[in-house]
Amino acid sequence: CPKSKAMIDRAKEYIPGGVQHNLAFNYPYPIVFTKAEGAYLYDLDGNPYLDFLQAGGPTVLGSNPEEVRKEAVALLESCGPSTGLFHEYELKLAQLICENMPSVEKFRMLNSGSESVIAAVRVARLATKKKKIIKVGGAYHGWMDQMVYGTRIPRTGRFEAHGIPKAYTKHTQEVYPNDIKALERKLRFNKLRGGTAAVIVEPLGPESGTRPVPINYNKQVRALCDKYGALLIFDEVVTAFRVGMQGAQGYFDVMPDLTVFGKVVAGGYPSAGGLGGKNEYMRYLAAGLDGDKKIKKAKVGGTMAANPLSCVAGYHTLKQILDTDACAQAGKAGDRLAKGLQEIMQKYQLPYVVYNQGSIVHLETSGVLFVDVNFAKPWTLPNALKQIKIRKDVMEQMGAAFMAAGIVTLAGSRLYTSAAQTDAVIDEALAKFDGV
Ligand code: PMP
Repeated sequence: CPKSKAMIDRAKEYIPGGVQHNLAFNYPYPIVFTKAEGAYLYDLDGNPYLDFLQAGGPTVLGSNPEEVRKEAVALLESCGPSTGLFHEYELKLAQLICENMPSVEKFRMLNSGSESVIAAVRVARLATKKKKIIKVGGAYHGWMDQMVYGTRIPRTGRFEAHGIPKAYTKHTQEVYPNDIKALERKLRFNKLRGGTAAVIVEPLGPESGTRPVPINYNKQVRALCDKYGALLIFDEVVTAFRVGMQGAQGYFDVMPDLTVFGKVVAGGYPSAGGLGGKNEYMRYLAAGLDGDKKIKKAKVGGTMAANPLSCVAGYHTLKQILDTDACAQAGKAGDRLAKGLQEIMQKYQLPYVVYNQGSIVHLETSGVLFVDVNFAKPWTLPNALKQIKIRKDVMEQMGAAFMAAGIVTLAGSRLYTSAAQTDAVIDEALAKFDGV
């Protein structure tokens, strides 16, 4: 891809370290994309790619769906992307989300998943008057310092870039994934030291290089939160409106106190974030110029928060998902892809494990790499770092080989499917994977 390569080299002169979407997504060097349509992407050199990146998760309907684009263009023509004033779509989107997400009574659109995680943490601290937050090792809750660097258990593979390992921040603690006993020990320990404000989890399991959560895990976490008076925060940035219109909370039938949104909530358009939850907690979240001084509130805002373009795109994306049962369709594509990939791995006796949770397909190095990075006991830093390096190298090679074959993945280890991927598209992809 000579044109892409030339532009990427030029970008390094002006953008520190090169372009934003570089290592994690595109090996061996970033490709410059110029067109996206349904199940396909096209680069500057005119090459087509099968899209299993889905913009990093948001595009459940496929790339650039007409139903959403039409409405976004109409809004741009009528009032431009951002008014700085209330627009009816903020209400329409909030209502649609409250009507569909089981635990959400109130919803506020925000700028990004990362900011929304911080909003949830602030609300939990104000509502409980406690400080400590417990998160799960290997989980990803955005790039805000407190969540990224408050980690002792290293992230694997694609999140190595976020900096590992660093000391705990004073009030952010971590437990091993899927280890309910460790969580209870931590909650009990905190009880004598001011208590725990909240436990935050990714309900489908930590994002980076781990195995899925046991089916009862979220229910057990809920019960422990109730026992120790901590709020339960679900980070549904990936899962909301992808696992289904009711998110992972509907799937597991577990009601969190607060839910963090991102990605699909704005249909792949900019400024995708939000916080939802029970009224008794959401009342601690202040609006832009909230004059209510009766209780101390967490201030959130931002010039672009809840701008009309993201709200209109989010509303019509969710509406389309509802009307066409798109999550189920994307899930079917995920099932077909995961099954086919697993067969290919077996055919060539490759050491990978493929598993999927509907439209979220994981490709992991099996055996020691798959399990040990986060789960080795006793855990040692040199060992973990070694495992991470091996895994990262393997995944980089995989990602590069896929790109060369015309398949875009998230760092060679995660593949998102969409409703635009028919059986024929998945079969086309599997034929390409077989040739890699
Ligand atoms: N939480 C999870 C589970 C995520 O996957 C992400 C983004 N990949 C975030 C939070 C952060 O969201 P954003 O990138 O919109 O800041």
